[in-house]
Amino acid sequence: MSKHNGHEFEGFATRSIHGGFEGDEWGSVIPPIVQSSTYSFRDVDHGAACFKDHSQGYIYTRLANPTIDILEANIAGLEGGCAALACSTGIGAVNTLFFALLNAGDHIVMSESIYAPTRINIEKHWSRFGVEFSFVDSTDTANIEAAMRPNTRLVFTETPANPAIAVTDIAAAAEIAHAHGCLLAVDNTVLSPVLQRPLEHGADIVVHSITKALNGHSDVVGGIIVFAHAEHYKAVHHAWYHLGATMDPHQAWLVIRGLKTLELRVKQMQKSAKKIAKWLEQHPQVERVHYLGLKSHPQRALNAKQASGPGSLMSFELKGGLEAGKAMMNAVRLCSLAVSLGGVDTLIQHPASMTHVGMTPEERKEAGIPDGLVRFSIGCETTADIIADLEQALTRV
Ligand SMILES: *Cc1c(COP(=O)(O)O)cnc(C)c1O
Repeated sequence: MSKHNGHEFEGFATRSIHGGFEGDEWGSVIPPIVQSSTYSFRDVDHGAACFKDHSQGYIYTRLANPTIDILEANIAGLEGGCAALACSTGIGAVNTLFFALLNAGDHIVMSESIYAPTRINIEKHWSRFGVEFSFVDSTDTANIEAAMRPNTRLVFTETPANPAIAVTDIAAAAEIAHAHGCLLAVDNTVLSPVLQRPLEHGADIVVHSITKALNGHSDVVGGIIVFAHAEHYKAVHHAWYHLGATMDPHQAWLVIRGLKTLELRVKQMQKSAKKIAKWLEQHPQVERVHYLGLKSHPQRALNAKQASGPGSLMSFELKGGLEAGKAMMNAVRLCSLAVSLGGVDTLIQHPASMTHVGMTPEERKEAGIPDGLVRFSIGCETTADIIADLEQALTRV
């Protein structure tokens, strides 16, 4: 629900445009950027009241800021949560959650197919403070159940996860986590709340890299944590502003602008992606296309159970392996040779020669990244132009 001129509205696009902002004393249509780092108190009693209870007034922008509050309320509403905490980056949001919820001797169960820095932080950094971990193939939730221990505190999954486009059953994962007295957190970056709202399927917490679809214009990095339950919000809130990976007001303001077109962008990108995936699937140089909108994806039905669409992220395998991948990357003209996803600009990248170049071919194979695999995030350009660019690039392979 979002309030506008005293009336309440329920539509997703309406809420993404107006959510969190009910106007101000100047009648601004667009919320102002409150760039102040600190706030003056009316008198000492007011200062004391603010420190006792943050809802009594603003103190300092790391603790709360009017522009950032609007963004948090908007995204909390879109995900169907009770509150949210905005962070400087997506990985800042992930680490804030671990910092707040995990103690030495606690155990976390995580999907093995997950954003690589999320995994590396647990494996290389949180383990230094005594956090224990298990990485499991969560496409079969029986593997989550088998990994649970008496000291497990958190189950963390990302669905769909890339570049494998692997889907985890959110409701089944939530049931397992709760039966063991644990929380389920879901990284919902890839589909965004337009297509999937994990809290509706029993997840307790959602995290996002705002950098991707939520902002959508490849001009901001940011993250957010959304909570289903006020008690978890309270528990993480304190750790959040003490760890300090909080957002900046100007960053928040840009994302508030990006959110206004979220539904339009995500639906257009998905429409294009469905056409492009079918075109790629019949191309003689393409071995396989991994896309949840194709009948050939083995987890298409599971995704359809918990999401209203397949999104715009896909990967495909070239028949010519490593050399074919490199040749295609050097030949694209419209598609940008860049990492990231979910923005209006179409981005293409070849893990074997770029992001995963440090691994041996054997290690890549084990991680499910064949040498001919190309990762592809479709943007909002004209569909025919994207296809024409792929076509000309594939002639050079
Ligand atoms: C990009 C990404 C992150 C990290 O976000 P940053 O904003 O780059 O810090 C986390 N999870 C997923 C799924 C991502 O794609």
